[in-house]
Amino acid sequence: MQVIHDFKTSIKKYSSQGKKNDFFLPEECPFCHDKLHKNGFYHRYVISIDGKTHSILIRRYRCHHCGRTVSILPSFLFPRFQRSLEYIVCCIKEYLLQKKLLLYKRAIYFYLHRFTHNIPGLIAFFRDKYNFLISFDLARIKKATKLIKMIWSSDAQILSKEYQDHFNQSFMAL
Ligand SMILES: [Zn+2]
Repeated sequence: MQVIHDFKTSIKKYSSQGKKNDFFLPEECPFCHDKLHKNGFYHRYVISIDGKTHSILIRRYRCHHCGRTVSILPSFLFPRFQRSLEYIVCCIKEYLLQKKLLLYKRAIYFYLHRFTHNIPGLIAFFRDKYNFLISFDLARIKKATKLIKMIWSSDAQILSKEYQDHFNQSFMAL
């Protein structure tokens, strides 16, 4: 399982800090509520919006009771995506708002497909969050445009973390 954590740092800084990042330790195992133990790191890459590739370490914990592992994913990432959250959200926004392609078409369409798949979840999320009725009585693509504007104008990383905590998956998940 992946837990999203806001390290309040840039990708570059997180990458250069390596094992010295201030890694969040969840209070208990999310599955059986026993204590979690450090279980090393795994290595992965992230591509930031300027196109640069960074090598980063992900902290992993293991529960000795149920044997499951929990990794702490920095909030600048979506689970299972190599490009950063900012990069992906920007690609979707630029395409929806101005039909601008920041990447090759197939990549943009893939992101768009994932994003529009999560429209119902995002609408429910925003309605819960703001506790009033936001009108979404629009066609699918207009809904997507409205949602990406709302995401872009708030802190997308915090929002993505809140969404993940709420639904246990990201708004780019299948
Ligand atoms: Zn456990």
